[in-house]
Amino acid sequence: MTNTEEKIKEVSIPSAISVQDFSARSEVPIISIISELMKNGVLANINDTIDFETAAIIGDDLGLKIIEEIDDKKGKQVVTEESVNKKDLKSRPPIVTIMGHVDHGKTTLLDNIRKASVVVSESGGITQHISAYQAKLTNSTNKKLKDKIITFIDTPGHAAFSALRGHGVAITDIAVLIVAANDGVKPQTKEVVEQAKEHNVPIIVAINKIDLPDADVMKTKQQLGDLELVPEEWGGKTVMVEISALKGDQIDNLLEMILLQAEMMELKADPNSSATGIVIDSHIHKGAGALAVVLIENGTLHKGDIIQVGNTSGKARIMEDYNSNPIDLAPPSFPVRLAGLKSLPGFGDRLVVHESEKEARLAAKLVEKEINKVHISSATKMNEEDESTEVMEIPLVVKADVRGSLEAMKKMISEIESKFVDLNIVSEGVGPVSESDVGIAKSSGAIVLSFRTRVMPVANKIADKDKTKIISGDVIYEVINNLKSFASEVLPPEIIEEPVASGKILQIFRDDKKGVVIGAKLENGGTKIGDKIKVLQDKNEKWRGQVISLRREKNEVKEVKDGQEFGIGLVAKAKVANGDEIIIFKVIEKKREVK
Ligand code: GDP
Repeated sequence: MTNTEEKIKEVSIPSAISVQDFSARSEVPIISIISELMKNGVLANINDTIDFETAAIIGDDLGLKIIEEIDDKKGKQVVTEESVNKKDLKSRPPIVTIMGHVDHGKTTLLDNIRKASVVVSESGGITQHISAYQAKLTNSTNKKLKDKIITFIDTPGHAAFSALRGHGVAITDIAVLIVAANDGVKPQTKEVVEQAKEHNVPIIVAINKIDLPDADVMKTKQQLGDLELVPEEWGGKTVMVEISALKGDQIDNLLEMILLQAEMMELKADPNSSATGIVIDSHIHKGAGALAVVLIENGTLHKGDIIQVGNTSGKARIMEDYNSNPIDLAPPSFPVRLAGLKSLPGFGDRLVVHESEKEARLAAKLVEKEINKVHISSATKMNEEDESTEVMEIPLVVKADVRGSLEAMKKMISEIESKFVDLNIVSEGVGPVSESDVGIAKSSGAIVLSFRTRVMPVANKIADKDKTKIISGDVIYEVINNLKSFASEVLPPEIIEEPVASGKILQIFRDDKKGVVIGAKLENGGTKIGDKIKVLQDKNEKWRGQVISLRREKNEVKEVKDGQEFGIGLVAKAKVANGDEIIIFKVIEKKREVK
């Protein structure tokens, strides 16, 4: 921006921001930002975070005005408020994920809402899995809420809470926790509550299956109370709606509650800026190539926009809504299906619009490089940390039901910290655990993690025969905890030396080829024949071995007590001297724990 007549662009930045996000907000190419940082002596890459001050300095050099963004405490906002101008911000539909224990009715509810109130429903005949759709509240007495739109995404809960790779950003504004009233609170119910709390995502409870004779709404509410979800009528703050997902009862009421919660959160985005989004699903489509479903975070994506998504790039050549109807524009909170990328992006990859194909390609390359660099640097870091610690490598083959689960599992694995183990994913994929997965595991000595997917009987048989370990489960923490316990079991124990007595050498009685006999006095404990002993001089160990004989006033004894002067026979090769410190110790083997 050299023309001084032009208005200086204002960009609001939180206290810390990644280079990529900074680029998206400022619309300055990533390359220019990195090179500007370099000029200022900061070596950063695309995923590195820079603080507000640094952003302000380079922003100045780039002709931008950087303003500090005030953190919004009213729940998590998916859309970063790119408040170039606050007045450009328009309210956007809330992004909602329905979560709960298996069989509590999540799919039935998603289907029912979709049937009853999907915005566009002309084309119909959808055969494929729908990862997201928008619903409109058409039947509401509340004028303010009537015809408002909600985006529902169907992604495993944990993925919804930490979709953006490495950033832990939620793509969910509101979580609907579904609990079947005939079954009550279950492990996955608790997991959802924990994760939602951790990510500061508000919860609305849908108590489901109230049409069933054994539905016990009171008991379910009491159990929810134990998770600190107390209904409003009991003086709590949690909105609870009693529904029947199957019969469609009270679903409009649930939608109203979601919209009221969204109103309170004041979810906003700037539809006029260039789009940013997050991949929530992707697959290869016959005839269309790489197909990605991208949830637009901010801005509007236009058909034909030049895009970079994670480590791939291309053009938004074909854009469709969730009913496969062609569209030209995708506004904030819209789940757009798009084709035109050179290769398949991953779940949680970020979409950024670029000015030129060259720039998009370069940005994609930078991400690719980063991915590789992260792998290398984490391996070297491990070795640098403590050369004396033996790091045990545990190769893993990871399988999951859908890409989102796979990414969530990988994220959790990467967060397992231990300087003793290196968990290394040698193979990963979506679908059941097959014969070939077990084959890979066997040839690489890996263990198989099967998350929310089944293990084919033949694969189970081979694994049994080959003694290949398979850890499977539907609850992420369970699988991770089992992996940790397995890693802890196979790790060699930590050897700890615990001193039981210490003292000083007072005299050297004998020192010849046969050995050494010293006179000593122990202070805080005794010793007996066979004990382990080490001799230190100026804190440096000179020798270690065993007590082979003990003498008190010429008599051979088996043990001596605290404070007694005595003679010890040692087979010492190193020279020991008067005044050296002696330590009697025992060796304890402590199980190592991977936490
Ligand atoms: P998900 O595993 O949470 O997706 O659960 P589903 O939606 O697949 O539902 C599990 C079973 O519960 C299915 O047989 C549904 O028909 C049934 N179901 C779901 N909602 C209701 C409900 O409100 N009432 C009754 N009676 N059955 C329901």
